[in-house]
Amino acid sequence: MGRFDHAQYVELSMHFRCNLKCEHCMILNTMDRLEPESMDRFKEVLEFNLRNRRWKSLTLTNTVITRRSYRHLPGIVDRLGHLRRLVQMEFWNYWPMSETDDKGLIVPHLDVLPFLRRAIALARQRGRAVEVKNFPECLLGEDRDALNNDQPKLFIDPAFWPEFMRNGFYQCAHRASCGSRQCLGFNTAYVKKYGWQADVLVPLPMHPPPEPDAPRASDPRPATRS
Ligand code: SF4
Repeated sequence: MGRFDHAQYVELSMHFRCNLKCEHCMILNTMDRLEPESMDRFKEVLEFNLRNRRWKSLTLTNTVITRRSYRHLPGIVDRLGHLRRLVQMEFWNYWPMSETDDKGLIVPHLDVLPFLRRAIALARQRGRAVEVKNFPECLLGEDRDALNNDQPKLFIDPAFWPEFMRNGFYQCAHRASCGSRQCLGFNTAYVKKYGWQADVLVPLPMHPPPEPDAPRASDPRPATRS
């Protein structure tokens, strides 16, 4: 589980002039078209927050899980072990902002899984909160609570969103029978590359299981749906 309430944080895209050209960058192909938020907008947000105290801070760093990085996730946790002010680590499973994985960076979930769970365990051993993005919730086992796809309020060029929608999230062979509220399922590029993998997924209960002292089916009291 993450440590931050996303509603208390905010993101602004202040420029798109990064020249690092990271191959896992989700907006690399749109940076020449997207317009940054203006300084006036930045001031507006600051002034709004001064008056309303809505957000605590601007948000934080993340590690993208790709074919090149997934084996190194536990090592990354170790490598950052000396950072005393690092309170939360986020692991973002790569998506390509496209219907196809043209860069060949998507990894089968089952290949990522042991490295990701080891990284989660190591981070938690160090007292750090963890958030995982875009990974099937049902595969995370006892680390399910690490999945959190919520995001802070984001100020970005509206032209970003049609590109984002090309990912086609929320696809899953079990979607209609799964009670997960956080899972983004699979995206179009993943399904095209690796298929539905329905046999390894375990749909979550549609409703939380009853508490031990909750009324049972034979109990004459009316049950409460949650
Ligand atoms: S069954 Fe599908 S929707 Fe449900 S948690 Fe697993 S991947 Fe996500």
